[in-house]
Amino acid sequence: MDFSFSRYELEFQEELTTRLLAILPNDWNEKSFTLEQNDPALHALANSVTKDLSKDKLLTLAWPEKYGGLGSTNLKQAMFNHVISYLGAPLNNIAGIQWIGPSLMMYGNEEQKEYYLPRIAEAVDKWCLLYSEPTSGSDLASLQTHATKDGDNYIINGQKIWASNANEADFGLVGVRTNPNASKHKGLSNFILPMNSKGISISPIEDINGNPTMNEVFFDNVVVSKNYLLGEENRGWYQMAASLDFERSGIGTYSTAKRNIEKLIEISKSMPEVTNSKQSYREEIADRWIELNAGFNLAMKIPLLQDEGRNPTYEAAISKLYGSELTQKIASTGIKLLGIRGQIKSNKNSYQASSQYLSAIASTITRGTSEIQRNTIATQGLGLPR
Ligand SMILES: Cc1cc2nc3c(=O)[nH]c(=O)nc-3n(C[C@H](O)[C@H](O)[C@H](O)COP(=O)(O)OP(=O)(O)OC[C@H]3O[C@@H](n4cnc5c(N)ncnc54)[C@H](O)[C@@H]3O)c2cc1C
Repeated sequence: MDFSFSRYELEFQEELTTRLLAILPNDWNEKSFTLEQNDPALHALANSVTKDLSKDKLLTLAWPEKYGGLGSTNLKQAMFNHVISYLGAPLNNIAGIQWIGPSLMMYGNEEQKEYYLPRIAEAVDKWCLLYSEPTSGSDLASLQTHATKDGDNYIINGQKIWASNANEADFGLVGVRTNPNASKHKGLSNFILPMNSKGISISPIEDINGNPTMNEVFFDNVVVSKNYLLGEENRGWYQMAASLDFERSGIGTYSTAKRNIEKLIEISKSMPEVTNSKQSYREEIADRWIELNAGFNLAMKIPLLQDEGRNPTYEAAISKLYGSELTQKIASTGIKLLGIRGQIKSNKNSYQASSQYLSAIASTITRGTSEIQRNTIATQGLGLPR
């Protein structure tokens, strides 16, 4: 099998790289390893990158033209994600672009699709995903936040947790229980929720590096019109399960991994006093490089299957599992290689090894834990009994 890209695909990658390098600061390759998540300069840069790319509908290029896309292939979208992640270019509204937009496209009514999708494509609105609760993460179907019908409205009460970027989102996609008497998978619904609705309060949660990237979101009698219901009432579980599969392929994970391994190789060359005596670390870097290349091909298979009209569930789980565990292995190799220098928090020569090591811990939790991916591979891939 030939895994290489076609001439057109390579040309697209080159054009996009040139375009991004023109927007990113000149010394981006150095700087990107030292800008902290909560640095206002990073936010400003994310805004300008997102706005610029949205002008040519590049954020959503696989979406139909009618909804703000270019009608391109999923492969081309994956290539876009690859370039963005390889360059470490910051982007806004990942949840809106990768999960919520495709959910709206699949389950929204025409009015919802025509209104919300072009606004995501044009970088007008930011979204957050409001699924997890303090006692419902992997077992999402057990969620307790509930919406009670009240005439033409629903009234939402409850609490969500770990909601990335909810503090800056215009809208949330919230999973709620609408029928408390049905079995746990059968009484759920999804609502589009304006985040400035009365009764919503948001409390930031700092991640392991001290950056407030996640949030608790509380609902106290939040009134939402029935027009904001997504699809059919009480069919929310099936929508949630499908939406979680949308971007599990995670090509970007491998692109970031490539960038990080290349940085480790660069460090090894430029700091021979650190690495010369460490034969085993050289071998470790070589192992990571091999794993990276194997994983990249696992991830590329997903858009190819999607372009054939297939729904890659266990294939996406394999790629997610392998990629997130590779992220942790690379972080660990980096820390070992740099020894005591790896513990320095912010130092371009150490490419933020310590904060990368800490943030890598979340990679096997977010977007579905490794155990959940293994369950999917076992049952849906290998047909093992539940
Ligand atoms: C960085 C980050 C960003 C996130 N962003 C969002 C967001 O924007 N919106 C959102 O809604 N959520 C978000 N989450 C939450 C995330 O989806 C959950 O943390 C994740 O699904 C795990 O749920 P949990 O934390 O409740 O752990 P639990 O589900 O309680 O899991 C605890 C442990 O038990 C294991 N386990 C659970 N069930 C099984 C099983 N059936 N078989 C085997 N092992 C099992 C798990 O693998 C894990 O090791 C985010 C999480 C992180 C870390």
